Amino acid sequence: MSDRLVIVGGVAAGAKAAATARRRNPAANILVLQQETDVSYSSCGLPYHLAAPEEIPRSRLVARTSETFRADGIDMRTRHRVEEIDAKQAIVTIRDLNSARRYTESYDKLLIATGAEASRLKTAASLTAPPIVQLRTLADADHLVTCLTGVRKLVILGGGYIGLEMAEAACKLGLDVALVEMAPRVIPSFDEAVARMVEAMLRKHGVELFTGARVVELDRGHVVLDNGVRIQTDMVLAATGVRPCTALATAAGVDLGSTGAIAVSPQMTTNVEHVYAAGDCVESRHVLTDRPVWMPLGDVANRQGRVAGINMAGGHASFPGVLGTAIFKVFELAVARTGLGLAEASAASFFPVRETIRMPSRARYIRESKTLQLHLTVDQHSGRVLGCEAVGEDAVDKTIDIMAAAIWGKLTAADLFDLDLAYAPPFSPVLAPVQAAGEVLN
Ligand code: FAD
Ligand code: NAD
Repeated sequence: MSDRLVIVGGVAAGAKAAATARRRNPAANILVLQQETDVSYSSCGLPYHLAAPEEIPRSRLVARTSETFRADGIDMRTRHRVEEIDAKQAIVTIRDLNSARRYTESYDKLLIATGAEASRLKTAASLTAPPIVQLRTLADADHLVTCLTGVRKLVILGGGYIGLEMAEAACKLGLDVALVEMAPRVIPSFDEAVARMVEAMLRKHGVELFTGARVVELDRGHVVLDNGVRIQTDMVLAATGVRPCTALATAAGVDLGSTGAIAVSPQMTTNVEHVYAAGDCVESRHVLTDRPVWMPLGDVANRQGRVAGINMAGGHASFPGVLGTAIFKVFELAVARTGLGLAEASAASFFPVRETIRMPSRARYIRESKTLQLHLTVDQHSGRVLGCEAVGEDAVDKTIDIMAAAIWGKLTAADLFDLDLAYAPPFSPVLAPVQAAGEVLN
């Protein structure tokens, strides 16, 4: 008889694992338990759906519906929450959220793909406080749409990925937007010069910025900051970070790593026999430092889900680790990073130097050509490229992806110049930004 595979969580990692296990083993007995109503949807698309619901309706964010999973012979149970894992007996206790019934199911292999949740705001709020919303799930997006009626002014807390993507979305909806970031600048983990360009872009589009400030109170239609500033608002969007959902796992004896997320092997196994974990609830190995890092990103969750699905279905796959490659868009600007910054590289015992390079994104005489700014981290001893941040209005995505491939392949700055890349004026200058960077660094 085929193994019974039980998967907890059905968005990115869980859904990918279920679909992969099905493909790899058509006879596998697969059960997915998902506490939300929705499954297999693109959280990453939520800001774009909210900004233009006619162009990107809710249904287009769903990759596979419950019915599609069931048609593939996967027992997909939505609104079913796993409340307990008994790893000794290999059973899970489930709450059917429709009927409140509690029941158990056994497993041969279990995947924990419980993801992450939005950090809760711990700020005093009076009865007259503006409503606070968050954006993590499709249901959060539905709720946000409901709350938008009559809203003219939005305060966004957090100048990270969601805060910035939503600042653009809210402006597109015609709202007045103010953004509050507690760090001295937005995207504090990026180079200061990159953050300043993002701030200039926000101001250009009329977003009011309050950096180095914390909210201390929500009262009478106002957000009150610790510097005494009161910002009138109709609604508050809290986008102040996420944390991994690990309580179910730890109660079952699953170990966490130093980042606070679940520790897993490259095969996505945990310390508990027959229990796997993948996605935002787990930590990854950084390919350059060999240290654990927590990278709660959709592409990582999908790739880890695939590895878990293959292994649970009896195959052999490994997740090699991450470089921390990420990209986002804020108005006309694209901002991306891969690998290590200067401080991270020093902490990992490299001997890094940092170079800033500006160049045109295409041949100068092409109308669409824009200035592309790169911040490169290179190891002085080996010449290896260790990291890159890219910011600009054109060619950021392609440049960062080449850099990620170069870092993955352990290329040196000299190698960058030698890469045989495609050239024609509408696409690139004669020396592509990556090659020009190689030339400058040599
Ligand atoms: P989740 O998406 O968190 O899914 C886990 C699921 O498990 C949830 O539905 C949860 O309710 C369920 N669950 C938890 N506990 C239980 C339980 N006990 N029983 C049953 N079900 C349970 N990443 C990118 O790489 N690029 C982007 O552009 C990008 N944009 C984003 C934009 C937004 C607005 C958001 C919110 C995220 C974005 N991300 C992006 C991050 C990306 O969406 C996540 O990394 C990805 O969703 C993680 O997938 P996951 O399956 O691990 O976890
Ligand atoms: P984030 O970690 O990117 O940013 C949170 C920001 O909020 C930080 O700058 C932090 O300093 C600030 N902050 C924290 N507490 C605050 C407070 N009380 N007041 C004001 N500012 C405060 O987190 P996020 O924006 O919530 O996004 C969550 C995760 O979703 C990200 O970590 C990322 O992994 C993922 N995501 C990725 C993308 C992308 O790759 N394009 C897009 C959206 C979300």
